[in-house]
Amino acid sequence: MKAEIIAVGTELLMGEILNTNAQEIARELYHLGVDVYHQSVVGDNLIRVSKELETAFERADLVITTGGLGPTRDDITKEAAAKFLDRKMILDNNTLESLKLFFNSRGLEVNEGNKRQAYFPEESTIITNNNGTAPGCMVEFENKILIILPGPPREVKPMMKEFVLPYLKKLQGKVFVSTTLNICGIGEGHMEEKIIDLVEKQSNPTIAPYAKEKGLTLRITASGKTQEEAKKILEPIEKEIEKRLGLDIFAKGETDLESVVSDMLIEKGLTLSTAESCTGGMLSSRIINYPGASKFFKEGLVTYSNESKIKTLGVQSETIEKYGAVSEQVAKEMAHRVTIVSKSDIGISVTGIAGPDGGTKEKPVGLVYIGLSINGDIKLKKINLWGNRANIRRRTTTEALDFLRR
Ligand code: ATP
Ligand code: MG
Repeated sequence: MKAEIIAVGTELLMGEILNTNAQEIARELYHLGVDVYHQSVVGDNLIRVSKELETAFERADLVITTGGLGPTRDDITKEAAAKFLDRKMILDNNTLESLKLFFNSRGLEVNEGNKRQAYFPEESTIITNNNGTAPGCMVEFENKILIILPGPPREVKPMMKEFVLPYLKKLQGKVFVSTTLNICGIGEGHMEEKIIDLVEKQSNPTIAPYAKEKGLTLRITASGKTQEEAKKILEPIEKEIEKRLGLDIFAKGETDLESVVSDMLIEKGLTLSTAESCTGGMLSSRIINYPGASKFFKEGLVTYSNESKIKTLGVQSETIEKYGAVSEQVAKEMAHRVTIVSKSDIGISVTGIAGPDGGTKEKPVGLVYIGLSINGDIKLKKINLWGNRANIRRRTTTEALDFLRR
């Protein structure tokens, strides 16, 4: 486990106080066998603290913060954490009740500032503070742990001893097992809808969707005392998700769509050529990214103008005149013709309106036709994408590869 310590407080930055909390926490973690690779100090600033958390979690599994849990406006650590985690701040009634007891016993009312001390990022575990009014909290998310402690050392030390260290000791005895499902042909929202009940009721395994440049992935992670135990927890949920998403899952583990398609073509011994219009070679470029592409990829033609579609591919000029270059008919002819011109088993074509200009009411920006000819059998896929030109072009290539895969 890799850990980082973030001390929050402008006083620390100004050199008014010494960061003894970091020293104390670092020493304890060292004794526990947890590696601390970075420590940082950041002022009482919502954006900067939230950015600091982001940076720390890029490197670490565990981040412990101290400071900034007080009742004043400048105490923002929990809010910064909620911002970083993209979670709401939720009132914890137990904490509010103890605050009331504490203040009432001193003849005081709980003011708005104190009330803020009873709010925590959604789904936090509260860490009791027996020596002050600000409880700490812990948030577990995507296999990572954030622990938020107050500033005063006389509060931090007992909280470390009574809660953090026993918790980490227990955790160190845990084994994690995870699997990544790669998904395409379905949007993130739609995918979430299909599995939301599983995501919501599950804390082990955790199910985390990520929308990356390359596409959508779903990471399922289970923990247990042993590898076997963790696997047993993981498998039924993984199976259930596979059942629900079906063909939308194109692969497991670290891979990408072009590799899956390429492997499939090599296995089946089929050759491929492309005829692209609006994607301008992006599709063939993605395929050629695959190191063994020479085994199946024959030719990638960029036939951008009508003239080129006619001259290079042999698309009928009548078809273009009658239906327009962005049409079902032209996409089909392009796919069919490229198999003949390039002498390949499979031809895939793309014709669409990438924008920002050129859209009409009947044929709006984002309308794309993908033709697929497999040994003379011609299929068509019509899609309506949105976004800017680069986005539409990139997503078109994904849709084309997905069409080929299914
Ligand atoms: P409070 O409710 O007392 O305001 P807090 O959780 O908001 O607590 P801070 O306001 O950041 O914490 O700090 C309160 C006091 O704790 C500071 O004035 C300082 O004396 C001490 N303190 C804060 N951070 C550290 C640190 N990293 N090392 C040592 N002492 C610290
Ligand atoms: Mg304070």
